[in-house]
Amino acid sequence: MTAAHAGDCLFCRIVRKEIAAKILFENERILAFEDIRPRAPVHVLVIPKDHVASLNEAPEGAEALLGEILLRARALAREKGVGESGYRIVLNTARDSGQEVFHIHFHILGGRRLLWPPG
Ligand code: 5GP
Ligand code: ZN
Repeated sequence: MTAAHAGDCLFCRIVRKEIAAKILFENERILAFEDIRPRAPVHVLVIPKDHVASLNEAPEGAEALLGEILLRARALAREKGVGESGYRIVLNTARDSGQEVFHIHFHILGGRRLLWPPG
């Protein structure tokens, strides 16, 4: 991935434990933590540890990492008790999506009925 551990990136700072977060899962490649402003009873973020700004910047060769994040999100949804009731994985990308933090992150949202289509 590009520009590993960008110094001023919020989520890179969480990866480096410079900013506290409620961490749910961690391995060498990925980190999962509770969203600080949950939009649903379950709201978890899953990120690669290496900095990449958004899906648009994810390089060729990131297939395995992105797949690992997706399957980890599934496991976390199960652990949070919404595997059967249902959940949504959201990957906001660039301006019109409302992406605010430019370190790629998958949202896991669940624990309530989610509207479709999103606003
Ligand atoms: P985006 O809009 O970029 O897809 O989502 C960014 C998410 O990061 C938001 O849901 C927001 O609540 C969350 N967030 C922003 N700052 C922090 C923080 O310092 N800690 C945690 N845990 N989540 C954050
Ligand atoms: Zn970053």
